[in-house]
Amino acid sequence: MLKFPFARQPPFVNPANFDFHCHSIVSDGLLPPEAVARRAADNGVDCWALTDHDDLGGLAAARTAAAEAGIGFVDGVEISIEWKETPIHIVGLGFNAADPVLGAGLDELRNGRIERAQRMGAALAAIGIPDVYEGALCFVTNPSLVSRAHFARYLVSIGIARDLPGVFQHYLSPGKPGYVDHRWATLSDALGWIHGAGGVAVVAHPGRYKMSGGDMRRFLDDFKDLGGQGIEIACGSHSPDHLLHFARLARHYAFYASRGSDFHGPMESYADLGNVPPLPEDLKPVWRLFR
Ligand code: AMP
Ligand code: MN
Ligand code: MN
Ligand code: MN
Repeated sequence: MLKFPFARQPPFVNPANFDFHCHSIVSDGLLPPEAVARRAADNGVDCWALTDHDDLGGLAAARTAAAEAGIGFVDGVEISIEWKETPIHIVGLGFNAADPVLGAGLDELRNGRIERAQRMGAALAAIGIPDVYEGALCFVTNPSLVSRAHFARYLVSIGIARDLPGVFQHYLSPGKPGYVDHRWATLSDALGWIHGAGGVAVVAHPGRYKMSGGDMRRFLDDFKDLGGQGIEIACGSHSPDHLLHFARLARHYAFYASRGSDFHGPMESYADLGNVPPLPEDLKPVWRLFR
């Protein structure tokens, strides 16, 4: 008997619900890549990218699980950079995950995280909260990727704050006692790695950066000059005003528009997988580059 040949076989001609930003236990998410894939499919996501921080270790399992769940899959990563001393995240999509230069760059970024985490531990000890580095390690699920999220989970577990936003607000944000400056990758490193591996670079959650409008323009100018092509418009942490504002900037720069929940785990995220607003219809959705 003939089966309908296009039913739930990636890549989809017109995915109504793509989610190109989320995390697994390979960085600071709470679920294994396979479980994130199944949850995305259950939530009605048509095409999905796993974008762990600075690590590609979950992509093979994610791709297999996405195929089993009948959803499209694009390789992804969220790279930590700094631009004029502002920490910024760049999502890379659709690259060759075996590219050695990309792999080596991410290895170095992760190594820097360990030394930074030890300095965070020392800074918190100095205000009377001892052994936080060691405590955070108990929450780390990938020994080479320690994030502020792991510190936050530990600090909540010992009653320092009620929830993650509370810990960030009082201890882990810039200017707070557990925050330490860190040298991340540069914008040109990150875009060089992504483009060298054949991928597309996307500015992650632009509404989250503490930047003036002028600095955002200068940042987007630099991003565009270096070949950056995409920007997240609909994402878990964007308000409706952010969505409209960054949609205008996407039009101005002729960027592709991306969409992603930034899901980290049940009960712990701004949005669940696939559960973010649709993109304005006139924008070019970034998934088109991968069909
Ligand atoms: P890092 O890459 O180590 O600087 O850690 C950044 C991570 O901390 C983000 O990817 C989120 O997982 C988490 N995070 C940052 N700010 C907040 C916040 N206000 N509430 C909850 N989690 C946050
Ligand atoms: Mn995170
Ligand atoms: Mn981010
Ligand atoms: Mn993220």
